Amino acid sequence: MCAVVGVINSKNASTYAYYALFAMQHRGQEASGISVSNGKNIKTIKAKGEVSQIFNPHNLQTLQGEIAIGHNRYSTAGNSSLDDAQPIAANCVLGDIALAHNGNLVNKQEIRNQLIQDGAIFQTHMDTENVVHLIARSKKENLQDRFIESLNNCIGAYCFVLASKDKLYVARDPYGVRPLSLGRLKDGGYIVASETCAFDLIEAEFIRDVKPGELIIFTQGNDQFESIQLEAKTPRICAFEYVYFARPDSIVEGKSVYEIRKKMGESLARKFSYKADFVVPVPDSGVSAAIGFAQYLKIPLEMAIVRNHYVGRTFIEPTQELRNLKVKLKLNPMRKVLEGKEIVVIDDSIVRGTTSKKIVSLLRAAGAKKIHLAVACPEIKFPDIYGIDTPTFEELISANKNIEEVRKHVEADSLTFLSIEELVGSIGNERQYSLISFDGDYFIKN
Ligand code: AMP
Repeated sequence: MCAVVGVINSKNASTYAYYALFAMQHRGQEASGISVSNGKNIKTIKAKGEVSQIFNPHNLQTLQGEIAIGHNRYSTAGNSSLDDAQPIAANCVLGDIALAHNGNLVNKQEIRNQLIQDGAIFQTHMDTENVVHLIARSKKENLQDRFIESLNNCIGAYCFVLASKDKLYVARDPYGVRPLSLGRLKDGGYIVASETCAFDLIEAEFIRDVKPGELIIFTQGNDQFESIQLEAKTPRICAFEYVYFARPDSIVEGKSVYEIRKKMGESLARKFSYKADFVVPVPDSGVSAAIGFAQYLKIPLEMAIVRNHYVGRTFIEPTQELRNLKVKLKLNPMRKVLEGKEIVVIDDSIVRGTTSKKIVSLLRAAGAKKIHLAVACPEIKFPDIYGIDTPTFEELISANKNIEEVRKHVEADSLTFLSIEELVGSIGNERQYSLISFDGDYFIKN
């Protein structure tokens, strides 16, 4: 997970980066940062927390320059200390550079071990720092060749944005597992961002997606950019972006996430064999699929669970008597709507099963007579290692229990999942996807 943004040829580079990160806050809330090049050197501000807490008009004003890169962090590799916030800025023999990364490198440990053997001193736990060291230690003459050489050493899923004093480099892994789009700013500058919802906010025009295996080089003051096709494989965008991760208003690889989630809901509805008075989405993750589900079956949709959008982290552990407090802080079911009803609840996914179990129990306590749970993705049976944070085999409920056992665990009256074929059919059969959480096909191997 994580979000990256890169901006060039704009007097408001850091402000655009800020708003892009703000629009992509859902991709990571742990830490954020922006690095700006003023043509001579690079300045970085990064901290733990959300974008709106870290940046303000005063500190953004200090980030002057026409090239900016930014990052929202959701920890996968590494831990949650401030050291692990991005971008990572460094001063190397070619001058200042700053690098940010979305994805996960599967050979990070080997590379790190090798670099340490060679005398490198690491300051963070992140795989991103490997690439900074590889660039710094390369014997190639210019940054472009050093970056290409470093990318050739990286195996995994990645989108990198790299800023130097006068250039912005953008690279996507050979399979294009994580999304990355290119757009044009109103002032003529360029922007790349993990999701197109960032473009909508700042009224940037979508140009195209960055191609799998593509390296784009932008030069300050030059309206033309250079594209180099490095190694490319059959593209395999991550299906989980469509299931859960991307915002519904984003267009990923030419497809509306909202429309696809509705199709997943339709697909679920086609196989749903029970009676229900109405459909209840789990807000916000189940809403788009629930709309597709309800429209297909022509049954009403009721927002019978209300979400509190202002829940940050709560530190006080609830007492035993208030054991539902934690989930109720976020989600509150409405008794008046639910009492005596037979309902179908739609959520996007079951990972550990904790959320579904709590939701079913809250709905029952609020008077629902029968609760059918329909999940708009297949059973998650395998940990993702390409940049989505999923727990280990032991913690993944569907890795350890069949559908009937999961149904019993969450205490629903019925449980329906999408099959892998139905998921792929909803997104579109014409291309391949990264489906590792569902089929365990770890196609990028070390
Ligand atoms: P769980 O309680 O572990 O079953 O959580 C499932 C819920 O977490 C789903 O309904 C999703 O909305 C959400 N979810 C799915 N994948 C992730 C993820 N990788 N990180 C955070 N939340 C997720």
